[in-house]
Amino acid sequence: MLKYKRILLKLSGEALAGKKEFGFSDEVLESFARQIKEVHDKRVEIAIVIGGGNIFRGATGTSKGVDRVTGDTMGMLATIMNGLALQNAIEHFDIPTRVLTAVQMPQVAEPFIRRRAIRHLEKGRVVIFAGGTGNPYFTTDSSGALRALEINADILAKGTKVDGIYDKDPMKNKNAVKYETVTYDEAISKNLGVMDTAALSLCKENKMPIIVFNALEEGNILKMVEGEKIGTLVVD
Ligand code: UDP
Repeated sequence: MLKYKRILLKLSGEALAGKKEFGFSDEVLESFARQIKEVHDKRVEIAIVIGGGNIFRGATGTSKGVDRVTGDTMGMLATIMNGLALQNAIEHFDIPTRVLTAVQMPQVAEPFIRRRAIRHLEKGRVVIFAGGTGNPYFTTDSSGALRALEINADILAKGTKVDGIYDKDPMKNKNAVKYETVTYDEAISKNLGVMDTAALSLCKENKMPIIVFNALEEGNILKMVEGEKIGTLVVD
């Protein structure tokens, strides 16, 4: 049984690097693609927002002397490279996939047009939203929230390297406790570090449920759409 029929899957760029600090891991790309196929086979409509942290982040760039807007633009371009890499991996499984970008690049990818994105989904194509929101000072979490609302997704599913939301950073604290459910307000006020506040606020205002789960564990995307208890759910 499917709990969610149309999902916005936010995949962090960082996860694409796998064990490396930078670039792509072929194993991760293949694992994501295989998991997406599994869910696509169940006729779930899948839209993906891909991050860029495995290549460049504007905020990190500023510490190295790159001005913020330039750095953010570089970050957005990184998401387009990731989008193409992911498209390529998914197409190896014979699934029609379209990359739609918020930063115009007509030779490379379609421009983001909301109605076209929805049409692709209805036709069973996997849609990858690249280029973030097209604006600096945002993150791809915000693009995820925005696109989830624009396509009327049932859920914003954030697939990362950690298996949910913890009260403390689980990488640094052995006694960190995982939440099964958390409210938007708690996630914002306790600064739980799952998503930036802009993305959380947008979801809260528009009642878009969020699930945070480990997408690197094979089979988890399917478990998530079938409503199995994995990760952490953020709700009202
Ligand atoms: N970015 C941006 N506007 C957006 C989305 C992304 O300027 O709407 C830039 C920003 O510099 C960000 C980078 O692109 O740091 C890569 O995205 P993100 O850090 O969200 O990637 P992830 O954490 O998912 O790997």
